[in-house]
Formats: sequence, structure tokens, C-alpha cells
Amino acid sequence: MIDLHCHIDLYPDPQMVIRKCLSKSIFVLSVTTTPQAWPISSNIVSMHSKMPAALGLHPQLAGSRRSEVDLFDSLIGETSWLGEIGLDGAAEFSHTWQDQLFVFEHILKSASYDGGKIMSIHSRRAARDVLGVLRRFPDAGVPVLHWFSGTLAELQEAIDMGCWFSVGSPMMHSKSGRALIARIPKTRLLTESDGPFVQHSGGPAYPWQVIETSAELSRVWGVDPKVVSAQLEDNLACLLSSI
Ligand code: MN
Repeated sequence: MIDLHCHIDLYPDPQMVIRKCLSKSIFVLSVTTTPQAWPISSNIVSMHSKMPAALGLHPQLAGSRRSEVDLFDSLIGETSWLGEIGLDGAAEFSHTWQDQLFVFEHILKSASYDGGKIMSIHSRRAARDVLGVLRRFPDAGVPVLHWFSGTLAELQEAIDMGCWFSVGSPMMHSKSGRALIARIPKTRLLTESDGPFVQHSGGPAYPWQVIETSAELSRVWGVDPKVVSAQLEDNLACLLSSI
């Protein structure tokens, strides 16, 4: 099982989540939301080879955390993974749009200087802008668009640019999300929980629940669940080989 976007440090009991992931041998990318949280957040998972930590500065925090880009730069050499980064075009964050652009561009520039990273990217209501910025920093690394919710045309643009996608239960449970998933190349797709932000059965989503997204994928693709799981493992190996 693979969870390519999970906020392990934000669960009430991260160690419980880690133990259960280890027992089920789940690969979990633990994304973070601010550089200030990095020492603690990365330490939580640092013992475990299947749980890399990604250095992030969440676009919804860019307005208040813009000054942390210098700290971000001082930490970027510690990891091959970045996230959660990106842009959020929702109305409630429109007053921080210039800060979001500043932070996202700064991070992509730093990633380019540092040789390229695998990047878990937020693009809610901002798919076109995210793709526009990514296009200007082709050496920043491999973008993985998490919970993509753009149009089919924007999806195609992202595919043509070489983007990857991580998909979870909210996408699977919406009609537009399923239409997007059906068009994502099978070789560029991975699963995610986005826990604990995403809710599942009345509580926070957990990494092991990606098994349900895999089961849905087997219906969408019309193949056996074992084929889905082999494909996802191949995809992860391919993504890992890019860094
Ligand atoms: Mn997230």
C-alpha cells in the first residue's frame, strides 16, 4: 500500500499511526505544513525508510509564514521530498494570493538550485496558475499533483507536462473526481489519504484506508485488485528512481 500524501505529525497520536503503517508495510510520504515544524515532524518518521518526510510550506499558511522561506532554504538539503506546497485559489485565501505566489516560486527556484525534488502539490481552484508556475521552473523536479480538481483540459495539460497524481477517497466519491481519475495515465497515479484533514467514517482518514481507493481503481480500470497493487508499486519504484 502507498499513501503519498499524509500529515502524520498532525494526528493526535502519530506513533500509533506509524506503528500500524509499519505493521502493514505501507509506504507513507509524511508531508509538513511549515518549515518551523520540520525538526519535530521529520524526526517522528526519520527511523523508517518507508516513511520519508517532505519539507513544506502550505499555501493556506503562506500569508502568515512567508518569512519562513529562509528557514525553508536552510533545510531543503535534508530531503528529496517537498510538500505540502502549491497555490490555493479559494476565496477565503484570495487576500494572500501574492504571498502564495512569492512562496511557491521561491520554493521551486530553491528546488531547482538543489538539483530537483519530488513535490506533493496543492492546486485547489488554482490548477492553471500552478501549472503556469511549474512551467517556469522545469528543473524543480517531479510534480505530484495531490487531490487534483482542475478541468479535463487542465488535467491534459498537466499530463503533457509530465506531472504525476495522487488520488484519494474524496476524488473517488465525486463524479468530477472519477472522470479525472479515469483519464490519468495508469503509470503516473498513486494513492493518498490526506489524513487527518480528510474525514473517513466519521473520523480522520488513515493511511491504511488507501486500500479502498485501490479497490475503486480496480473497478475504474477494469482489472484485478492484484494488478492495481502491482501497478502502484511499479509506479512508486519509478518515481523513487527519479531522485
Ligand atoms: Mn494535505
